[in-house]
Amino acid sequence: MALKLYIVNDFFTNKRSSDITMFMKKILISACLLGEPVRYDGVSKPLVHPLIDELNERGRLVPFCPEVAGGLPTPRPPAEISGGDGRQVIGQAARVMTREADVSRAFVLGARAALDLALEQGITIALLKERSPSCGSSFIYDGSFSGTRIKGMGVTTALLRENGILVFSENDISCLEKRIKR
Ligand code: SF4
Repeated sequence: MALKLYIVNDFFTNKRSSDITMFMKKILISACLLGEPVRYDGVSKPLVHPLIDELNERGRLVPFCPEVAGGLPTPRPPAEISGGDGRQVIGQAARVMTREADVSRAFVLGARAALDLALEQGITIALLKERSPSCGSSFIYDGSFSGTRIKGMGVTTALLRENGILVFSENDISCLEKRIKR
């Protein structure tokens, strides 16, 4: 019902047709935010918010876990970016490490799979889990496994942003809401 109201409003305010499609387009979402138990520790981090319920009911959310898509198991050892953030991992100037191994390849494969899915489905907006070495958009951990946060983005976020996709975190949900409902 609300969708109908937006379109009526659009007619009267003469918004461009691209604005109409913004109300219909799909949104890529970290699978763990939608309740899928895909995190490294085998649990989910469901995001409880009326906007998520509304978008989910309309079938607009596309859940995706880049780390699983990159071939990593669940549960899996925790990983952090060492020597930079997701942008440097893509440029091969930093690595994604567990305490025992370099898992950069799986992270880059997962990021590429996320981008392929977004391009296939015409997705231009993503809502991704903050602080993850894949999905973080403002903060990640510093690679020391000490719980120290630094400014930076994960590998998937970096690749999506490089390709023009807007990435929001669960902390920016009001910004996301304004972006899709303005
Ligand atoms: S990679 Fe992203 S979707 Fe997958 S568990 Fe981590 S934060 Fe969630």
